[in-house]
Amino acid sequence: MSLFGDFAGLTRPRGDGIQLASDLSLAIKADFLDRPGLERQVLDLAGHGDNRPLFVAAFGLDRFDRIRAVAGYEAVAGIVGRLAERLRQAEPDWRIARISDDVLAAAFQAVDAGEAERRTEAARLGLQGEQSVGAARIDVRLAAGLSAAGPPAALLREADLALDEARAHRATLRVFDARSHTAAVGSLSLMPELRAAIEQDQLFVVHQPKWDLRTGRICGVETLVRWTHPRHGPVEPDVFVRVAEETGDIRALTRWVLDKALDEQAVLAAEGFQLPFSVNLSGRLVGDETFIDWILERKAARPGDLRLEITETAVIDQPERAFANVARLAAAGSPCSIDDYGSGLSSLAYLKRIWADELKLDKCLIDEVGRSARDAVITRSIVDLAHGLGMKVVAEGVEDAQTAALVAGLGCDIGQGYFFARPMPLAQLVEAMRADSGPPARQVTQRWPEPMDVAAVRSAP
Ligand code: C2E
Ligand code: CA
Repeated sequence: MSLFGDFAGLTRPRGDGIQLASDLSLAIKADFLDRPGLERQVLDLAGHGDNRPLFVAAFGLDRFDRIRAVAGYEAVAGIVGRLAERLRQAEPDWRIARISDDVLAAAFQAVDAGEAERRTEAARLGLQGEQSVGAARIDVRLAAGLSAAGPPAALLREADLALDEARAHRATLRVFDARSHTAAVGSLSLMPELRAAIEQDQLFVVHQPKWDLRTGRICGVETLVRWTHPRHGPVEPDVFVRVAEETGDIRALTRWVLDKALDEQAVLAAEGFQLPFSVNLSGRLVGDETFIDWILERKAARPGDLRLEITETAVIDQPERAFANVARLAAAGSPCSIDDYGSGLSSLAYLKRIWADELKLDKCLIDEVGRSARDAVITRSIVDLAHGLGMKVVAEGVEDAQTAALVAGLGCDIGQGYFFARPMPLAQLVEAMRADSGPPARQVTQRWPEPMDVAAVRSAP
């Protein structure tokens, strides 16, 4: 009997990727069409379906690594299984497969690209929501990629690439576009050139101001790396940072960014502006004592107000080492911020143990604050908790005045996002600091409406 009720029957002619197994994880695998299985189904549909064009949609679980690290592989498999079952109920004609640990894909026919996109988005929205894993509740979020109506053999790959694009841009849905496909393939093949780029100064940094919501002034910056390839143009940081993590180039890259941040901080100081600079510290490096030693040496040689941003996943991988390293950094005057909080499974237990003095609420949580009373209540509780633990709270990805007002009303201390300022080169930051020494440009009480009534939100449905 299938773990997922009649899920076994949803797929196919049996034989594609079936393994008979008694243990849980293998049983989960056994009930899915796999990637080659779906490819065969696509060709079958192309040969035997009606005349409507054929599409493939891919749905990827957000923050998969984090959920897996905390809840375990089998829990993720369970989640993906339930999603597949729901998808089958919503779209009985779709041929559905699990094409990797965290991605479902479905082949279907639609009248045109518009209908395919509408149905993919409806399916994505229908699959999102809370799921229980043991005693915990996980807020499942998905990104989706949709193929164009191209040759059948290319559809699954196109959907997969479009999903990668959606994830890289933190978008909810992307439709395959041949031009960005060329760019994506290009950036992957560029990876061997990253080390040369580091050595030859092809990289540069930009700084995104953080705004104190009470004083309305810039209170720090996040330094972000950029790479403009001489022939191929800008390469997405999400893409090359991720690949640098895989190839081991992340150490050299982070060293370069950190040195550059300290250099530019010194230039800003020479202009008369002292400001904390935050640099992202990749998960792989948080548990790496030698790397932390290097940061501490650098900091001792070049004093400056340097902060580090780490995600919770970084700590989950090697908790004891990471806690110790974060405490060492804090003791040496480089405190950490917890980055992307609320974007997946956020663990209160870790929050208590990390020596961080700042919590950055992820854009996905912030985006929902204005739309959902539940998210507003969750955000308010996280803010209270963080304050209780002595942390300041940063609202990330604030894009408009209404959201800025909401997060200020919910008690966030600092705002970051396109509404306040986009990431900018040093020269522009110097100008922004000059302008900021006049009357406050973004003072909450002067510009924004009344803080939101949290009591009313609490009583809302
Ligand atoms: P992150 O640490 O979450 O950085 C914030 C990202 O959100 C930046 O994207 C920033 O440009 C973008 N952002 C800021 N405000 C808004 C907004 O209002 N709306 C939207 N849609 N986006 C906003 P960016 O620069 O593309 O960086 C993406 C990710 O790449 C970063 O996410 C970080 O994880 C990684 N990254 C960037 N630079 C470095 C680095 O030097 N080292 C490491 N390890 N990772 C880096
Ligand atoms: Ca960050």
